[in-house]
Amino acid sequence: MTTSELELKPQLTLADIIELTRTEGDAWKLSHVRRVLKLIGLIGAEMVYDETAVTIATYLHDWGAYPRFQQAGVDHALRSRQVAESLILPRMELPETAVATILETIEYHDYRDFHPVQSTEAVLLRGSDGYISLLAHESFHAFQGTAAPERLATAERALAAEAAYPWQDAGLQADWQTELDLLAATLAAESEAETIALTTQFLSQRQQRRPEAGLTDAQIDFERQREWLEGLARYVELEIWRQAAQSDYRPIPALADDGDFGEYTGFDRRWSQEVDQIRRMANDEGEGRFYYTGMAQAVLLDRLMPGWKQAIFADGVFLEDLLATAVTKP
Ligand SMILES: [Zn+2]
Repeated sequence: MTTSELELKPQLTLADIIELTRTEGDAWKLSHVRRVLKLIGLIGAEMVYDETAVTIATYLHDWGAYPRFQQAGVDHALRSRQVAESLILPRMELPETAVATILETIEYHDYRDFHPVQSTEAVLLRGSDGYISLLAHESFHAFQGTAAPERLATAERALAAEAAYPWQDAGLQADWQTELDLLAATLAAESEAETIALTTQFLSQRQQRRPEAGLTDAQIDFERQREWLEGLARYVELEIWRQAAQSDYRPIPALADDGDFGEYTGFDRRWSQEVDQIRRMANDEGEGRFYYTGMAQAVLLDRLMPGWKQAIFADGVFLEDLLATAVTKP
């Protein structure tokens, strides 16, 4: 069967979506959706979000994996978004903002995909491991605000440079691609000597890139500040997975009732996807790449500079500064 053989009414309601989820997916898929919706209700109890949008997104989020809609080589979350965007949402009466929220929520629902998302709805549809690690991420921001309130405020203000950053500059994109490739390669280095050699290349590529693109001081500061703010939080987010996966961690018994919790056993897969994603951020508009570049530099510091965590909260110290020190030490 193909997509085109599916006969859809010109107008669809939520009841139609539920029925289609049952017929195109199966009863098990429908009960998965109901379980996720129940969890979202619990987790989101104190949050402000668009309940209709998140409900529709939850029903549609796996359609791209159903036999009728799946496409070889296309990630199921992205495929679900395509189906929702082209086939389903145009037949529903929804405000434009709800449509945007639904599409984002569907595309980024997979707990393996940690592309930074905008909406609460998108966060709510993730699996429990992802939700818990996002709590660690946000808690770390609170910690930054306690341990270094001035730095947190400065890093937040640096975001003002985001709008005018030349995201679309072709030369800058190419230079970023080289830099991101070097960073991802460094993470895969197998010896300390190789790690130091590749880190040195990464740092010099970065030093070359900035004047070549004519970045202003504010734009350069924006990169470093957001790496400090979001990269470190992303590092914490991943570290709880790594430490739980590589220790004798056991979840509390109550988590046995949560079928969407993977006990962090997916760390290796999560990590390799994270590293792959680094290479895909060069043409991505917005500060998302700094989550990755900051996180990666923190991981390299773990390897090259024990004790770096004490230094990173000092005034004016950025991840790249510590890395430069780490690779030049005698
Ligand atoms: Zn953050």
